[in-house]
Amino acid sequence: MTALQTLTVLGSTGSIGRSTLDVVARYPERYRVYALTAFSRVIELSELCLTFNPVYAVVADDASASLLREKLQGGANATEVLVGEAALARVAEEADTVMAAIVGAAGLLPTLAAVKAGRRVLLANKEALVMSGALFMRAVREHGATLLPIDSEHNAIFQCLPANHAQGLASVGVEKLLLTASGGPFREFSVEQLQSITPAQAIKHPNWSMGQKISVDSATLMNKGLEFIEACWLFAARSDQIDVVVHPQSVIHSMVCYADGSVLAQMGQPDMRTPIAHALAWPERIASGVPALNFAQLTALTFEAPDLQRFPCLRLAKEAMTAGGTHPAVLNAANEVAVAAFLAGKLDFLGIARVIEQVLNEIPVSAAEELATILAADAEARQRAHAIVAHYLSKTGEG
Ligand code: NAD
Ligand code: MG
Repeated sequence: MTALQTLTVLGSTGSIGRSTLDVVARYPERYRVYALTAFSRVIELSELCLTFNPVYAVVADDASASLLREKLQGGANATEVLVGEAALARVAEEADTVMAAIVGAAGLLPTLAAVKAGRRVLLANKEALVMSGALFMRAVREHGATLLPIDSEHNAIFQCLPANHAQGLASVGVEKLLLTASGGPFREFSVEQLQSITPAQAIKHPNWSMGQKISVDSATLMNKGLEFIEACWLFAARSDQIDVVVHPQSVIHSMVCYADGSVLAQMGQPDMRTPIAHALAWPERIASGVPALNFAQLTALTFEAPDLQRFPCLRLAKEAMTAGGTHPAVLNAANEVAVAAFLAGKLDFLGIARVIEQVLNEIPVSAAEELATILAADAEARQRAHAIVAHYLSKTGEG
């Protein structure tokens, strides 16, 4: 008999948040939704509150809180509405399990709060780990948190590793982690074609249905770059122990190569409910609502090396990891600003990598031991990235 766990979903209105609640709704005897949070989609949050009746709902500002209270009034629902960052941290600290599914740097503080409270943390918010890797992993160890990867690749690797992998990859016979990448929607595009990509094209991923930011990251391969850094921290891997393999069908979600020549792969439909259900129930297994693969209907599985010339974001991320310190945080912040500018029509697709590279060149690497240093590097990188985007705009006359 499994004990009832309380669950906070940070970023409940997003793609991962909704997939999480889809799985959770199947197991009322296992999971009690403690808190749901959202940034702007208050109407959607009100519907989720009516369905899951959490103890708390957290929104970003007073106007959203008033609207949410109005929507919840009169019903049998007893949800208390809280506002702001301190409330996000509080609901992350108070639940047994926390799904960290806020997108971007905004997820760092509440995710760290859950870690420092020693919770079971299901990590979708890769940006948090990219920004603060050393500090984050130290907090996991010091506070006895259980960190389980939700990113499909990292969840796949976790499933293919032996239980004692924390003692060191080499000592458990692991030679390489093979991080698979779909290659995104523009895998076969020439540089000329990449120049004129529109936001609408970039957010349509061929295999996965995801939020806008990660969809653009998948198209530039920055998502794989962030995942490369994420894998280094999660599995205590050196850069030379991780290879990226482009596998356009997204059937294999990643692999682990062992010293004896064995390669273990985790396979499945491209549906995030599988890694979510895996991490929710770990070390048990529960049904996720995802059908099994039908091998009779599968087309050929193909593999190729990534092209770092056409997709420089993956190279930039690897270089930032090698540089270490605050550089991954700078990379992440510059990317967030550049992607937002691209989505707003203020920067062309190839401009994303140019902005990030320029910001990385302008900001020297500092040690990233303290949260304050990391947040300062994040702020400075955003400021520089905004200035560079504004400069491009003035040159192209679009502004
Ligand atoms: P999304 O855009 O669909 O949802 C983001 C959620 O975060 C929403 O609930 C939104 O309200 C909340 N949010 C946004 N900005 C916020 C802020 N400033 N403060 C508080 N809350 C805020 O994103 P998603 O696709 O669900 O991705 C979430 C995270 O999971 C990302 O870090 C992404 O890289 C990672 N991830 C997603 C997928 C996927 O399939 N969608 C796969 C692997 C990893
Ligand atoms: Mg992924």
